[in-house]
Amino acid sequence: TIPVYGVPGTNQERTFIACKPDAVQRGLVGAIIARFETRGYKLVGLKMVWPTKEMAETHYKDLSKKPFFPGLVEFFSSGPIVCMCWEGLDVIRQGRQMLGETQPLASKPGSIRGDYSIDLGRNICHGSDSPEGAEHELKMWFPEGVNDWAKTIDAWVYE
Ligand code: GDP
Ligand code: MG
Repeated sequence: TIPVYGVPGTNQERTFIACKPDAVQRGLVGAIIARFETRGYKLVGLKMVWPTKEMAETHYKDLSKKPFFPGLVEFFSSGPIVCMCWEGLDVIRQGRQMLGETQPLASKPGSIRGDYSIDLGRNICHGSDSPEGAEHELKMWFPEGVNDWAKTIDAWVYE
């Protein structure tokens, strides 16, 4: 069976993408999902979760020494987020490209952050930054696993 985090560098690679509380409040969930869906990626996990402070701290544990960490944890646990697992070729790196840069000012128009956000602390989406990050985040947010379904149009998406 395929592990929850997928196989890096193949069309079974998996990443964790989240619409943060600001995206939910601003009604951008559908727009964000549509970008990945129309690109050709396969949605294998989707749910809304209201993170506790502890979940926010675990999710962002690598940033715990940063001065902005308390505010980040406060924000990330301030309302529900939409958790997604997307599967497909190079989806971890492609997902990061689709998100744009961490800083909205550096994010090109056409990227999610470049089209929908202005401020660093309200950049609306999260995406795993590496296979190790994706594994950790998918295990954390989808402990129940994801859905191993076959997408019948994949012959028109992959050579
Ligand atoms: P990401 O992987 O692109 O989301 O960026 P990071 O993992 O470095 O940081 C996580 C999140 O913390 C970012 O998406 C920002 O919302 C926020 N963040 C990062 N750096 C800063 C900063 O210098 N100041 C503030 N206020 N927030 C930051
Ligand atoms: Mg990050």
